[in-house]
Order: sequence, then C-alpha cells, then structure tokens
Amino acid sequence: MTNHLATIFSQHSFLGGCNRAFRHKWFDEYGWWFVYSSKLDGAFCVCCALFTKPADRKKLGVMINSPFAKWHHKSDVIGHHPKKVSHAFAVQEAELFIQSVENPETTIPILTDSIRQINMDENRHILKSVAETVLYCGRQCIALRGDNEHLQSQREPQSSNKAQPTGRTQPSGNPGNFLALMKLLANHDKKLKQHMESPKLRNATYLSPQTQNEMIDVIGKLMIQAKIVEEIKEAQIYTIMVDEVTSHNIELMPLCIRFVDKDCNIREELLEICAMARITGKHIASTVKGVLSGLGIHLADCRGQGYDGASNMSSENVGVQALIKKDAPKAVYTHCSGHCLNLVIAHSCAIPIVRNTLDKMKSTVLFFTYSPKREGLLKEVAKKGAQSMGQMKPLIDVCRTRWAARHEAYSHFYNSFIHIIKSLEVISLGQHSDEYSQDVTTGWACQNKVEARGLLSGLETFDFVITFVTVYQFRSHLAGITVKL
Ligand SMILES: [Zn+2]
Repeated sequence: MTNHLATIFSQHSFLGGCNRAFRHKWFDEYGWWFVYSSKLDGAFCVCCALFTKPADRKKLGVMINSPFAKWHHKSDVIGHHPKKVSHAFAVQEAELFIQSVENPETTIPILTDSIRQINMDENRHILKSVAETVLYCGRQCIALRGDNEHLQSQREPQSSNKAQPTGRTQPSGNPGNFLALMKLLANHDKKLKQHMESPKLRNATYLSPQTQNEMIDVIGKLMIQAKIVEEIKEAQIYTIMVDEVTSHNIELMPLCIRFVDKDCNIREELLEICAMARITGKHIASTVKGVLSGLGIHLADCRGQGYDGASNMSSENVGVQALIKKDAPKAVYTHCSGHCLNLVIAHSCAIPIVRNTLDKMKSTVLFFTYSPKREGLLKEVAKKGAQSMGQMKPLIDVCRTRWAARHEAYSHFYNSFIHIIKSLEVISLGQHSDEYSQDVTTGWACQNKVEARGLLSGLETFDFVITFVTVYQFRSHLAGITVKL
C-alpha cells in the first residue's frame, strides 16, 4: 500500500522555488470531499465536480472543472473551498445520493411513493365499500337517496323535531339507504369508520350523490351493459323491443334486446333507457339506431321488432318498424303479444257483467282491508273455518287494467269467499255470534252494517258467482301464458 501510494504521489513539480508534490496526509487534513487524480496530477472536490448544477458549473473553475495542482497555493485554494456556498449545496446533494444508494427506503421519492401507495390502497378499500353498497341497493331495488343526506343528522336527538309551532312538515332525518348502509358497514370496518367520521379530504369523501351517480353509471355502462353487449355480439342475431313510458313528466324509452345466449337460454335484457324529447316514429327509430350503433351492435343482424300497436310504432310508412326495416330488412315486426293479451283482458273487463263482478270484488276487498276491526273479524272467521292458517292470506287489491299480473288477488278471493260471506253476515245480520268472540261480533256502526248488507247481496247473486268463477278459471290459465310471453 505504501509503495502504491508512493508511486501515485511521486510526481514532483517545481513550484514556488522548490519541488512540490501531492501529499497523502492532506486527505486527513480536509474532508471526504477532497480527492486526488493521479492521471491529471491534481486535486478535485468530488462533490462539486459531480453534483454542481450545469448552469452554475460555468462560473466555477479549479477543483471543479479543472484539477488543482499549484500546491504552493494549497491553503488559499483548498483551504477556502469548503467556505463556498456552492460547495455546501454540492455536499448536501452528494450526501443525499449516498444515502439513497445505501438506504433506498428512506429517500423522499420512495417515501412519497409508499405514502401514495397507502393512500391508493385506502381509497380503493373505501371505493370497494361504496361500490358494494350501490350494488346491494341495485339488487334489492331500493332507493339510494334520502331526504336529508347528512350522516350527522341521524345522531341528533329526535326531540329537536318535536312541536314545530308552524306546523310545517320537517325532514325525517333519514339519510337514505346508501348512507345508512355505509354507516352500518363502517361499524365493522375501522378504515371506513375513520374515513366517514373524519375524511382526509373533505372534497373526496366518495359519499356524495354525484359519486353515487357516477358509481351507478360505471357499474351500469362499463360492467353490466358491456357484458350484455358482448353476449349479444356473440349471439350475433337478435330482436329488439321498445316501449314508451312517462315518468315525472319525462318521456322514457326502454330498449330491450332478446337473444339466445351461448347456453341456449332465451334472454331478454334491458339495454338502455333513453329520455325522449319527442315520441314520433322518426325520433324513436333514430334513437334506437343511435344506441345500437354506439354500442357496436349491427342493425342489419336484427331479425325481429316487438312494439305495441300505436301508430308511431306500427305504421307501415312512418312507424318505427318501417324505418328500422330500411336498415334491417329481415327485422320482422310483431305486435307485442304481452300487449295484445293485456288489450284482450282489458276489453273483457268492459263487458258489463264482468265489470260489475270486478267492481263488487274490489269493493269487498277494500271494505275489509281499510279497517283493522273488519279485517280482524275476517281473520278470526277464516282461522276457525280454514283447515290451516296458511289458507288465509291477506286480500290483495285488484288493479283492473293490469289484472293479468294479479292472479294472487283472485286466488285469495276465491279461497276466502266462504269466510267473506260469513264475515259480512256477522256484520250486517248479527249472525254466528255464538261462534266468535264478542270483540268482533258486536259494536258495528250502522254505516258498516249498511255497507256489509249491500256487499252481501251483491256477492250472493247468481251472476256474481258464475262470472267470478268463470273469470277465475280462465285467469288461472292466463297466469302461465303471461309469464311465458
Ligand atoms: Zn466542493
């Protein structure tokens, strides 16, 4: 080692009146930044030479851009070098560089990256809960929004809403199903709880109505719709079904696609609900074409169209079916069988004897369901009369126009008919008082007795019984058809 150093530092120069050379002990005299180049026979500051910014480098000279070898000026040049501001910066840069090589995990970029990663993980965790909650509400068909979307509002004592002198209806403080579910999840999730109670960024809580809508859009468009479109493209040929409905004064047009999937199941899927400015054949047809082409579904592969019989849909010149056929000649138009069936049933309701029967049935149902006392009597009569409680189910109100879908209501009425007659006899005529408790057999108001007598006389007629049984019988056949259409 000594020989080696002797060789390195053996270059002598005649300077300041005598031969001078670099000395090894100078390494100890100055800092670690001080280095010697045997090739150039001069000293450098390694920090300044390597870490000075290019812009500052031009102003600097010896020990940085060129070697220092005037050893007789050593103390002036080398001794003063550490006092330079540029040197202090260069040393700092060099130390950071060494640290980043020796302990990479402590450097700022790595630390920033790991903090970013932690934030990303936390945000993903929270977004996952948000997405799951939105999906849950969607699957269960429950509304997301509440009338007062503040998590804190539920904690306020209910007494604060009491005794409003103005008599105004106060908000219930229900934050809605979405926020309530998020709160429930947070009870079992520390990260979520912390986020909901004190979010790191108040403008990024992921709980706002906007986030809920964005989440619904993302799930609806990018996941559910994309999957359906993929399956339709796989099936290639398909049929379209379109209808219009008015909701909150907005004309909406649901577009459904019927196709056979790869497992040979006949599928009917809702593809899009479009808000319509106008509902002429031209507008509907162009909207349908726009939606399909936007999703990359070829209209030429359409083999069928099913709409209601309205002229804007069915017209051979300006109807949707004619306009679609221009681009898809093989798309056969069929008047929707479900609509046809409903029209037939609705027309049958117009027959006076059927209409009277249904009106009597509806009045009877309302008579019992609108009063807990009358319903209590019916239940007691049914309980004693029926072989088991299972036979007696609550009477369901009957909707005349959509009655194809209300088979249950007729079935319950049919099964409860005897009990209904008996209950009406109890109320109107005071009969069967020995069979049932006094609570339900006595104390009927005069108005109730009159109504019950009217209903009883209506239900006991030959016309009613025959018509009801006929309607009930043919309806029971329709129940299966309705499901299959
Ligand atoms: Zn330096």
